[in-house]
Amino acid sequence: MTTLKKVSEATALVSSLREAYDSGLTAKRQWRINQLTALRQLVIDNQKVLEDALHQDLGKSSSEAQLTEIGIILGDIDYALKNLSAWLKPQKVSVPLAVMPAKAFVVSEPVGVALIIAPWNYPMQLLLAPLVGALAAGNAVVLKPSELAPATSAALAKLIPVYLDTRAIAIVEGAAKETGWLLEQKYDHIFYTGNGRVARIVMEAAAKHLTPVSLELGGKSPIYIDESVDLEAAAQRIAWAKYLNAGQTCVAPDYILATASVQHELEAHLVAAIAALYGADPLQSEDYGRIINDNHFARLSGYLADGRVVADGKPNKAQRYIPPTVLAEVKRDAGVMQEEIFGPILPMITVTDLDDAIDFINSKSKPLALYVFSENTLARRAFTERTSSGALAFNVAVIHLSVPGLPFGGVGESGIGAYRGKRSFDTFSHEKAILSKPLKPETLALVFPPFTESKKKLIKGLLRKLS
Ligand code: NAD
Repeated sequence: MTTLKKVSEATALVSSLREAYDSGLTAKRQWRINQLTALRQLVIDNQKVLEDALHQDLGKSSSEAQLTEIGIILGDIDYALKNLSAWLKPQKVSVPLAVMPAKAFVVSEPVGVALIIAPWNYPMQLLLAPLVGALAAGNAVVLKPSELAPATSAALAKLIPVYLDTRAIAIVEGAAKETGWLLEQKYDHIFYTGNGRVARIVMEAAAKHLTPVSLELGGKSPIYIDESVDLEAAAQRIAWAKYLNAGQTCVAPDYILATASVQHELEAHLVAAIAALYGADPLQSEDYGRIINDNHFARLSGYLADGRVVADGKPNKAQRYIPPTVLAEVKRDAGVMQEEIFGPILPMITVTDLDDAIDFINSKSKPLALYVFSENTLARRAFTERTSSGALAFNVAVIHLSVPGLPFGGVGESGIGAYRGKRSFDTFSHEKAILSKPLKPETLALVFPPFTESKKKLIKGLLRKLS
């Protein structure tokens, strides 16, 4: 089933998945391995189909599709397959003297039925990366791709039932109405990636069943850059991170904070970096993407008047093309500074110094990522200690999500929970505490009433020392 016509179909779907989960099917180690391997095969067999769909939805080049969607998913699957045995092993924990003799373990068990709701900007990666965690952890899953990336949604809706076990894994296409029907059902975890407005709808629906949520959201991720770095080299990395997927990346640098003199020098380097990446006319570049739809195109076009456009180029409405743009002389209260830009426009805001930059960042919601381009140890320490963000990266942007050991997620308005690597497995697992203590000898007599005077003394003194 890939489309729902009424809410009762969502109810029937989720109850059939729950039956499969309750039967013990999905918890079996071999089932998890089979599904992960089948997902791998799906991606490998259909690379061209997926690349074409991503190109249709976002004008993504095949290299970018490989780098940011297909390759990431294959890497995630391999990592999960390689580490699954270790993740499934009971983790022994030490037992305090007062409880000895006993053995204590933590065992990860599946949570049950999970709902994964994905956005349009990395429509394959952001649907399948959480799926890898959910399958590795042994759950049944409902997948809801974004309707705003219809080609990718349709391709995955067709392929997933062919490769994966339909008894326990379903994909449902649709928009707000269908997602609403799905959200009326009871799950054991809801994993949502997207904007803060819908996140609130998701959390409200989850609250009805006390269902835990992961909310992978966005916001404005700043760059701070100072004169201690090689500005030419920094500009290259900044331009790549900003204009990847035409700026439609949740961890894309949203704006730059720098002193006037650094900005002055950086401008020319950014223009040169854009030309090096996409040629003199990025409209002609096969490597430069397009804006997802007309609404976003109109929204982004409106921002172009919020500063002095540094890099040349005109938007093209028919192609939904917004050129890689740097905006100088942007006021702190300009429209482009009010919400996440989510497009290829990079405003530069003048700060007097590092403290001014930190105060500005701290006056806004906690970002998903914060990028500091500085060789100055004190500056790096100041950002580490005095700001809060989902991630903090020095002299690089976006790449932190390629490190499986680093949690990927937000804080405050930028999200709840984190995943990737083992955390994807943990997100969809319950850590069950297991304690086993022999009945004899009875070492617990001290905690049983009646509390005689000698027991009271022992409780006050000895027990505290032993725990
Ligand atoms: P979107 O419009 O595709 O919405 C996401 C999902 O929510 C879709 O599946 C959609 O069907 C569903 N939805 C939309 N309206 C709904 C409603 N009223 N009720 C229930 N479900 C509804 O994507 P988007 O929200 O525009 O995505 C962009 C945002 O996502 C940006 O803020 C970006 O920063 C953020 N994002 C975060 C990450 C991350 O990993 N933290 C990754 C990518 C994008």
